[in-house]
Amino acid sequence: MPQKKVYIETLGCQMNLADTERMLGMLDEIDYTPTDIREEADLSILNSCSIREHAVDKMRSYIGLWDKKRKPGSLIALAGCVAQQEGASITQIAPGADIVIGTHNIHRLPDLVLQAQKNQAEDIHERVIEIWEELPEDIPEVPILRKNKYHAWVNIIYGCNYRCTYCIVPKTRGDQRSRSIAEIKREIETLAMEGFKEIMLLGQNVDGYGLDIGTSLAALLREVHEVEGIERIKFLTSHPCDMTYELIETVAALPKVAKYFHIPIQAGNDGVLKRMARRYTYARYMELISYIRKLMPQASITGDIIVGFPGETHEQFMDSVKAVREIRYDACITAVYSPRPYTPAADWEDPISAEEKNERIRLLNAVSAEVAEEQSKRYLGTTQQVLVEGLSQRNPRRLAGRIFDNKTTNVDVPGISDLEAAPGESEAELSQRISKQLEQYFGKTIGVKITKAHAWALRGELISGPSQNEKNLRKALAISD
Ligand code: SAM
Ligand code: SF4
Repeated sequence: MPQKKVYIETLGCQMNLADTERMLGMLDEIDYTPTDIREEADLSILNSCSIREHAVDKMRSYIGLWDKKRKPGSLIALAGCVAQQEGASITQIAPGADIVIGTHNIHRLPDLVLQAQKNQAEDIHERVIEIWEELPEDIPEVPILRKNKYHAWVNIIYGCNYRCTYCIVPKTRGDQRSRSIAEIKREIETLAMEGFKEIMLLGQNVDGYGLDIGTSLAALLREVHEVEGIERIKFLTSHPCDMTYELIETVAALPKVAKYFHIPIQAGNDGVLKRMARRYTYARYMELISYIRKLMPQASITGDIIVGFPGETHEQFMDSVKAVREIRYDACITAVYSPRPYTPAADWEDPISAEEKNERIRLLNAVSAEVAEEQSKRYLGTTQQVLVEGLSQRNPRRLAGRIFDNKTTNVDVPGISDLEAAPGESEAELSQRISKQLEQYFGKTIGVKITKAHAWALRGELISGPSQNEKNLRKALAISD
């Protein structure tokens, strides 16, 4: 029987991207193979995000369009946070979906798809909807089809125990649940055997990892660090309340852990932070930043800021601008506040106009870009270890990867950028020849001299490698950690 095809559109954060890889892994077991062409898919899944209204609007328009241009006999499924959030009323929001599945029962996807196929075969016009209120006691391990061959996301904690007044996550992902160190380590050992080099430990609040099972992120990092074959370990997202000095010291001490921290501040003003229920002050946040910089002066630090939280005055907003300059973020992700259902702030008065908020975010983005570019310059002229993930999207004659501390880097390989077509060789054949030559670097760590520093990415030239082993390369190049 020919294999069926599945197309998944993923909206939102890394948690959703990781869920998509799980869905693909499970669907592979019932003979669905992934496709990038939506029109040819037998099953189209929208993995939805509800963090801001804009993402919900996008979900509606995707499902509406897919329903209108449906391949005969194909199925449409809605998964992710909007499905979890809306429960039974989801059918009004996404009338075109044949299957609706929440975030807590994602392991049930194959059964629901088979049920929908059966309904279709028997001409039963009934949607298949299953949304669980909570994660199961024992979260089932499911197969994962990972998109990237060298870099893997590993969930270490589900949900979140905080209740920030603007945030829908506790509603869509539930309370905090940590996976055991043994289970996580087993997954990473398997990944190492499969050739993965870089691990991103994922959670809404990774610094809170282990609080519910009597351990800590620092302890987990020490364990994961022992896994042979894994060259880089990162974690995301940190919460200032749960980030400990022990964690910072552990990151500083373990050579395979990237000196990279994503610590959203959300606002630079204590009054706004209090109304957001963030439970820290700007001064406390800065203490953490100072300690990170004291132990790791070159550390890369990124964050998130919400603009135009209900009642935020112009002066309070300017404190966020000041914060970006003081913290010196390598990148700052900004968003205009979006009222979310089921959250306290959604009912609060919000006298600030949309124009004013848009003006504020434009200013904040300009300052963030300026600071990020200045920060990037510290890499100019240095040699960085780049783990190559593939070809640059903008210029397929360049390699693309990340330096140890996470910044995206595009790399020129000597002799490749000015290669010309041989007599009788077409442009397409030349491109193919170049891709073949560059493929040898995929998944390898190479020494790169940084020649250009932009706000969000670096450019450099290959000077050594490829090396499978970053540590040896660092030694050979006499680069300190
Ligand atoms: N757990 C992380 C933390 O505590 O910072 C954040 C997780 S949330 C999925 C990612 C980002 O979305 C947040 O850092 C925040 O900046 C943004 N966000 C969350 N709710 C929002 C809202 N209602 N409006 C605008 N941005 C929001
Ligand atoms: Fe949302 Fe706050 Fe939890 Fe982050 S810490 S996921 S912002 S409730």
